[in-house]
Amino acid sequence: MQTPKVLVVGAGFGGIAAAIELRAHGIRDVTIVDAADDIGGTWLHNTYPGAACDVPSHLYSYSFAQRTDWTRLCSPQPEILAYLHGVAREYGVADLVQTGVRIVSAVRERTEEPWTVTAEDGRTWHPDVLIVATGQLNRPITPDIPGIERFAGHAFHSARWDHGHDLRGRRVAVIGTGASAVQFVPEIAPEVAHLDVFQRSGNWFLPRRNRTFPRWWRAAIRHVPGLQRWRRRFITEYCEMLTVLIRHPRTFGRLGRLYSTLFMRLQLRDPELRAKVWPDYTFGCKRILFSSHWLPALRRDNVELHTERVTEIVPDGVRTADGVLHEADTIIWGTGFAATEFMFPMEIVGPGGRRMDDAWADGAHAYLGMTVPGFPSLFVLYGPNTNTSGGSIIRYLETQVRHVRQALVETQRRGASAVEVRADVERAYDAEVQAAFPGTAWTRCDSWYRDDTGRVVTNWPGYMRDYDARVERLAPEDYVFHG
Ligand code: NAP
Repeated sequence: MQTPKVLVVGAGFGGIAAAIELRAHGIRDVTIVDAADDIGGTWLHNTYPGAACDVPSHLYSYSFAQRTDWTRLCSPQPEILAYLHGVAREYGVADLVQTGVRIVSAVRERTEEPWTVTAEDGRTWHPDVLIVATGQLNRPITPDIPGIERFAGHAFHSARWDHGHDLRGRRVAVIGTGASAVQFVPEIAPEVAHLDVFQRSGNWFLPRRNRTFPRWWRAAIRHVPGLQRWRRRFITEYCEMLTVLIRHPRTFGRLGRLYSTLFMRLQLRDPELRAKVWPDYTFGCKRILFSSHWLPALRRDNVELHTERVTEIVPDGVRTADGVLHEADTIIWGTGFAATEFMFPMEIVGPGGRRMDDAWADGAHAYLGMTVPGFPSLFVLYGPNTNTSGGSIIRYLETQVRHVRQALVETQRRGASAVEVRADVERAYDAEVQAAFPGTAWTRCDSWYRDDTGRVVTNWPGYMRDYDARVERLAPEDYVFHG
C-alpha cells in the first residue's frame, strides 16, 4: 500500500494528537472532520460557568507540547481550548480540519477496498484508514422523565450551556450532581434567586481550591531547570495513587475514604444536610470529585438539596416522589453523557455486512480499546476500557496514536492494504481486562462506567503505566495484514 489516506472523525484532543503523530511520521494524507464548527471536542462544548479540568494541567496536556504558563493547577475551559488551538496551529494540523461535518455512517464492503464514510449532508470520503476520535463524553443525555416537553420555562444541558439565558434572579432547578454540576452550581448559586439541586446519589469529595498560581511559582516553573518535568512526574504519581485507592477498596481505599470523610465533615457541620449528601457506595466506585466549593454552596440560604426521586416535570417545575412541586423557571440538566455508546449512533459496517451494533451487542470491547475484529483499518481512540478514574486521558490518547501509527507503518512496510486485529487475540485481551475488575471499587455500584448488563465498558482497570506498557509497542503477530 502507498501512504494511506486517513480520515479522522473528531477534532478534540484525540483527533489532533492522531494527526500530529501520523504527519510527523510521513503519513501526510490526513483529514479531520468534526460535527462542531471548530476544533476542541469536549472543551469546545462544555462552556458552563466554572468549567475546568480536574486533572492538573501539567499532566492534562500533551507530553510533546508542555507549557509553563498555566495560570492554575487545573486550568479553566478557555485556557485548555486555547492550548489545543495553539498546539494544532503550531504542529500544522489546524488546516486539516473540516468543520460542520456530522458523520452518519462508515461502510467497508470489502477488505481490499477503502471505507466509504458518509456525512449527514450526503458528502462522502473514501479513506484507507478510519480513526474515530469522538470520545466517550460527547453525547449529552437527559433522562427519560415524564413531562419534559411540557416544561414552560427554559431548559438546557450543562454541556450545551445557554449563555444567552440570564440566570440572575431566577428560580433554577439543577438535576444531577456529577463532575459538571459540582463545578457550575457553586458558580451560579450566588446569582440566582433560588436553586433547587436534585441529587440521585451523593459523591465522595476531596479538596480542591484551584486558586491562581502565585507569581513566584509561575516564575519558578518557567525558570528553574527541570522543575516542570518534576512537576509532571509528581502529578503522574499522585494520580496513579488515586488508582491504588480504587483498585484496593478494602485497604488503601479505606484510607482515601477516611481522608474524604474528614474533609466532608469539616465542610458540613449540619448533620441533616450531611446525611443527605453522604454517598452510600464504596469510595472510588464513581468518579471521586475534587471541590472545596460544592458543599459550602449547598449551605447557602438560597440553595436547597433534594434527594427524593424526580418523578415528573410539569410546566411550572419539578415534581418529586413525595408529591412536592418545586417551582422553577429554568432547568439545567447536569445528567452527563451516553458514555457507553462510543461511536454510536454512527452506523459502522465492515466487510461481509458485519455491523458494529452486532459486534457490540453484549457490550463494547476492542483490542487495547482501539480495534475490533471484522473492521479492518478502523481505530477508535478513547474507546472501550480506556477511560481513567485517576489519570490524564491525554496520556492514553498519546499512547494510542503511537500504536495506530506503528500499525499503519507496518501495514505499509508489508505492502498490505489493511490491518485487522486477530479475533482470538481480541477475545483473550477482553477476558483479561474484564478479569481485572472484580474486587475493585468500580464494580461496587452503578455508574456511567458500566453498561446495562453491569459490564465495566469505559474504564481501564489498571494504572496509566500498565496501559503504556501494554500498548506502547505494536506486536505485529496480534494483527492480520490483508492483501
Ligand atoms: P455524570 O458524572 O454522569 O453525572 C450525571 C449526574 O446526573 C449524576 O449525579 C447522576 O446521578 C445524575 N442523574 C442522571 N440521571 C438522573 C435522574 N433521572 N434523576 C436525577 N439525577 C440523575 O455527568 P457529568 O457531571 O457531566 O460528568 C461526566 C464525566 O465528564 C465525569 O465523570 C468526568 O469524567 C467528565 N468531566 C470531567 C470534568 C473534569 O474536571 N475533568 C468535569 C466535568 C465532567 P447518579 O450518580 O445517581 O447516576
